Amino acid sequence: MSSTKHLFITGGVVSSLGKGITAASIAMLLKRRGYKVAIQKLDPYLNVDPGTMSPYQHGEVYVTEDGAETDLDLGHYERFTDTFCTKNGNFTAGKIYQTVLERERKGDYLGRTVQVIPHITNEIRRAISSMADEDVDIAITEIGGTVGDIESLPFLEAIRQYRHHVGSKNAQFIHLTLVPYIAAAKELKTKPSQQSVGILREIGIMADFLVCRSEKPLEDDHIEKLALFCNVDKGNVIQEVDVENTIYEVPLDLYEQSFDTKILEALDLPVKEAKLDKWTSMVNTYIHPENGEVNIAVVGKYVSLSDAYKSINEALIHGGIANSAKVKLKHIEAESIEGEDLSQVFEDIHGILVPGGFGDRGTEGKIRAIQYARENNVPYFGICLGMQLAVIETARNVAGLKDANSTELAENTKAPVISLMLEQRGITQMGGTMRLGAYPCTLAEGSKSRVAYGAENISERHRHRYEFNNAFKEQLEEAGLLFAGTSPDGMLVEIVERVDHPYFVACQFHPEFKSTPMNAHPLFRDFVKASLENR
Ligand code: GLN
Repeated sequence: MSSTKHLFITGGVVSSLGKGITAASIAMLLKRRGYKVAIQKLDPYLNVDPGTMSPYQHGEVYVTEDGAETDLDLGHYERFTDTFCTKNGNFTAGKIYQTVLERERKGDYLGRTVQVIPHITNEIRRAISSMADEDVDIAITEIGGTVGDIESLPFLEAIRQYRHHVGSKNAQFIHLTLVPYIAAAKELKTKPSQQSVGILREIGIMADFLVCRSEKPLEDDHIEKLALFCNVDKGNVIQEVDVENTIYEVPLDLYEQSFDTKILEALDLPVKEAKLDKWTSMVNTYIHPENGEVNIAVVGKYVSLSDAYKSINEALIHGGIANSAKVKLKHIEAESIEGEDLSQVFEDIHGILVPGGFGDRGTEGKIRAIQYARENNVPYFGICLGMQLAVIETARNVAGLKDANSTELAENTKAPVISLMLEQRGITQMGGTMRLGAYPCTLAEGSKSRVAYGAENISERHRHRYEFNNAFKEQLEEAGLLFAGTSPDGMLVEIVERVDHPYFVACQFHPEFKSTPMNAHPLFRDFVKASLENR
């Protein structure tokens, strides 16, 4: 049996408590104490992965190096720990059922009745074990959803069984809960936490740690009460009060309460020294930047839900930290600016970013924003659809190809400067069929990208079906585009820049997935730098 120890993180009372950030913070602390940590999320919904879901339903779809379309919590995991997750980092109930049902069709169950217990729960246990690699000291499994949901039950049963098999020295239960402040009574209330722990107890799970999310600090008698009625040691009631400045403070708050030390002791692991200096100084730079503020507009179509652009928002913050500046984000609904006076819309804006997206809603507004950036020397950063639209903008307004478009947006356009990738033709299944995950890219000498990366060969993550149409290469070169990054065989355009502009860089891949607070992505760092220079 593997020697990997496990932490299981559940959430109670309400959703959106920040379980992902808590899990990521614990992982970060344990890693900085010298442990090899792996982390995963189990989601109880039935989609096989979130790739087919609208960002409005689910927030951003995060893409791993190995090309899995996953929950955005994996982004937190990678950003807090500076390590890569894999396909095993995210299992949904749909994926678990799919595996079991495929096995059933193959006849693997030899005539037996296939049931939630044991077949689904066994498959969930297999998903957990997939984290328990030889070299992993501690595997953290976050269970999505809220305790008490019907669909969470098989997952909770699976972690109960897992702990039963490996014992408490090898697996600990951490329950994240809400301690609401009732303004009328001027009181923090512990009852919802008691009830949520009660639901866990009914199915045989005794929480070892209680992490209490609250607006205000708990008093000693709240902690006393929570410990007594939730049946946990008083020292294992941890507070997670809303942070003042940034989510990157969360691990430091947990560290102050020796949460990581207590976890290691419970798992019977030696407490090694915590190396937090660099993290602390990063947080300090964020809170007290030396170079003031810079206003950056993100012109997108899912702007009413900021989680839809989670990694981009974070990567811009990282770019700010790298320049010791505070990035102030302004999300602009692309559709709403289609007929507006852009000099007013962007009056106090120092840099414009157009992120990825699908379908044509809002694209004309985005193209206008790009035109504005190009003509007014405002730093521009385009990502995925934001690159494709930058190409269309130059084609239409500089090269004179009035009908230029992407075949995604106008199937019969006379100037298909962006078209469906060859290998995408004939694909009818929507799930997991895009060009996904890490691919190599070669950077052109003399390009801003080459300077930013300080390297000729890079690798970045993708999620798209359409690409630049090479038939228009010469014409667009003449119109001022520089093909700054291509696939090593030169066939696929990965980055375009404008040669006549202070900073106009647009990429087909998603650099936001590889940016972390300790290592800002070079393209975000330099875009923020250019925006600062444009103040
Ligand atoms: N819709 C475009 C494509 O499929 C862009 C995708 C994206 O922005 N992620 O190529």
